[in-house]
Amino acid sequence: MALDLEHAALEWDTPLFEMALAQFEQALGHADIEDFVAERLRYPERAVMLSVPVRLDDGSLRVLPGYRVQHSTVLGPTKGGLRYDPHVSLGECAALAMWMTWKCALLKIPYGGAKGGIRCNPREMSLDELQRMTRRYTIELRPVIGPEEDIPAPDMATNAQTMAWIMDTYSMVEGHAVPEIVTGKPISIGGSVFRQEATGAGVVMVIEGACDRFGWKLSEQRCVVQGFGNVGGVAAKELVAHGATVMAVSDISGGVFSEGGLDLAELESWVEKHGSLDGYPEAEHVSNAEVLELPCDILVLAALEDQVTGENAGRIDAKMIAEGANGPTTIEADAIFLERGIPVLPDILTNAGGVTVSYFEWVQDLGRLFWGHDEIRMKLAEKLADAFDRVWHLSEQLAITPRQAALVAAIREVAGAMTARGIYP
Ligand code: GLU
Repeated sequence: MALDLEHAALEWDTPLFEMALAQFEQALGHADIEDFVAERLRYPERAVMLSVPVRLDDGSLRVLPGYRVQHSTVLGPTKGGLRYDPHVSLGECAALAMWMTWKCALLKIPYGGAKGGIRCNPREMSLDELQRMTRRYTIELRPVIGPEEDIPAPDMATNAQTMAWIMDTYSMVEGHAVPEIVTGKPISIGGSVFRQEATGAGVVMVIEGACDRFGWKLSEQRCVVQGFGNVGGVAAKELVAHGATVMAVSDISGGVFSEGGLDLAELESWVEKHGSLDGYPEAEHVSNAEVLELPCDILVLAALEDQVTGENAGRIDAKMIAEGANGPTTIEADAIFLERGIPVLPDILTNAGGVTVSYFEWVQDLGRLFWGHDEIRMKLAEKLADAFDRVWHLSEQLAITPRQAALVAAIREVAGAMTARGIYP
């Protein structure tokens, strides 16, 4: 029987990639771009699968699957995080890479999207094992990454130290220091001030913008934050700095809740000592599912993809949802929120602070000239406010959701470049 090429599933066709694609198709109807551009953007340009051998501390060998997906190089090098997680797959990286393309384009940053990962359990690995795994992964990927090709950054369970290992491995092979190969590095090797806080701070800048539009005072909002890592933890602190009340936060061990507001500094030192929120004595404990359904004004989703679905969206009791994570709200949940009149501040705008300051870091590295904290914070606020205004305007003009408006703005940006460049040869 002849293979039905048109409908044969491709290797990255997983539920998350289908979701990214479904969002793209929904926005396409409003984007008014040429068919050849739409067709090209349905596929990642390159998807690399590796097997990464890691010598464990006990002398045995584990071979772990690794991935790097580059979605689009139309606007510049590809850019995106590297995650260590037991659920990493080619499809997940492909979905996240596509979202990175839209995120960069929406912010008018001259990058396409990428994402990579290694399927592993980082919580069970020692620092030495993580280091050997990271360095081997870097060498395996060397032919397809580079400051002008593809620039990794932190994502789930990776951090400045991970980026330092990548930078060092790449630089040793090149024969000179190449800080611009990664962003989110330690400041001592060319990292940028404010990069670490940028995603969480950006989330709150976008929330502030939305509150202004709705005529709400941020200081009067009661917030629940799912996630207490680099995004959720920083966003929670920024919310409190703006006078808002953070009633609940969560991590993989579950959630903590206090009607009058949590003491975030206390929580942070508890997590530092005990590894998670589990057992924290000064608040009520709730399950991860319950955290999402607590009555509040603003629900910040800063943990994982696929958290609010057709199953639980009807029980969410918030006035507004802000996506600090990538892809936390499914297409079914989006439809329910639209019907219930609950605005969703979309991931590609709301969590874009991270890649925006990553871009500033890369520019500083290339120019060998570094900026201060206030200048970077101000530049980030300007970029996010500009993107926010364009999203809001398009959403009103075309009577579409903020997510669709953000996607339309991003798709048009990429389409403009692709139409000018054409398809090679
Ligand atoms: N991993 C982050 C994201 O999903 C940051 C990517 C970057 O800074 O390149 O946006």
